[in-house]
Amino acid sequence: MAVGSVDVTYRGIFQKSLASVITKALVKAARHEHKIGGTVQRYSDSPERNGIPAKQFAVIADEETSLRVEMAKYEPDTVVATCVLDDTLVKGLESWAWYGVQAVNASLSPGGVLLVVSERPIEELADWMPRADFDWRLAVLSRKTSFAGLWVYNDDGTDMEVLGALSRVTGGLVALESLVATAAAGSDAARRAELLESGFSSVQVAPISAGVGREWPYETPALPAWDEMGEGVAIRGVPKGERNMLFQKFTTRTARPVVDFDRCVRCQICYTVCPDEAFDPTPSGHYAVDYGHCCGCGICANACPVEGCIEMVDELAFSDNSDLHRIYEADPEGYGNLRQAALATAGGPVRHYGIF
Ligand code: SF4
Ligand code: SF4
Repeated sequence: MAVGSVDVTYRGIFQKSLASVITKALVKAARHEHKIGGTVQRYSDSPERNGIPAKQFAVIADEETSLRVEMAKYEPDTVVATCVLDDTLVKGLESWAWYGVQAVNASLSPGGVLLVVSERPIEELADWMPRADFDWRLAVLSRKTSFAGLWVYNDDGTDMEVLGALSRVTGGLVALESLVATAAAGSDAARRAELLESGFSSVQVAPISAGVGREWPYETPALPAWDEMGEGVAIRGVPKGERNMLFQKFTTRTARPVVDFDRCVRCQICYTVCPDEAFDPTPSGHYAVDYGHCCGCGICANACPVEGCIEMVDELAFSDNSDLHRIYEADPEGYGNLRQAALATAGGPVRHYGIF
């Protein structure tokens, strides 16, 4: 193999440092095998915002020409592994640098592996996987989601465990010994080696056959050729009361606000404070969330004056962006059961402080 790449998919800002440490460590360790490499951070400048899906790539090659060719592409197309640092990204991702909602395994090459850091069972994650027209593998590293943002680094060992797991699932794109040797150059070498080995030995892998998986619900917009592009991009304003369907933010969300409409006192605060104007007034006086436009910031849950009325619930407890208030209107008791079932699936509400 002349060249192979690893795509690290993460939540913008919150996990930026973690993604950067992983991609750079792969490249440094490859040098121990007389390979060369580089990292690409396409989405790490101003468009990257809290929670926005983003990617960094590590490109490893046997010689310089292959590396240069691969690094010159908009995105590497030799991805042997995609590593997903937050499991709610398996629902799909759209950053402000892409067009449309992408499947989490979209960049994988045939036979490649998608490694998810998650405490969920591999079978549960497999249910979320979009189908591909080639055989591939799903791998899970059982670990809590780790956050290491733009200015801070959370040295909780996730970086080393992910690197160990990547070495195993890629069949040694970078060998475990090389990663251990690189880690030995820094402080805390013994602990890092232990974590690398733990990731290597504990990662679970399951084969996924071509054609097996979730039907992808989103259309991929056709991109214009370079000579068809206009002079700029304009997102047109929409009339009052409507939302721009070209500018939805739902893939930013790790948890969504779920309202207990029976407790709601119709105070309007959620409607007023939501920075994305995602609440719609309803004839009953409740406020319904438009889940296509809610980014999951939690500000409404933080501001609601009624205890337990808006709770943030893990995004993987829901399969789509249906209007939950409509379900409540049609069948309040059924909605209550649905809400309780979602909370049970998610293991209770997510603690949230309203971060924008
Ligand atoms: S802030 Fe809470 S109580 Fe007030 S309208 Fe919104 S959901 Fe109802
Ligand atoms: S979580 Fe944030 S974006 Fe979503 S409805 Fe609440 S305030 Fe609006």
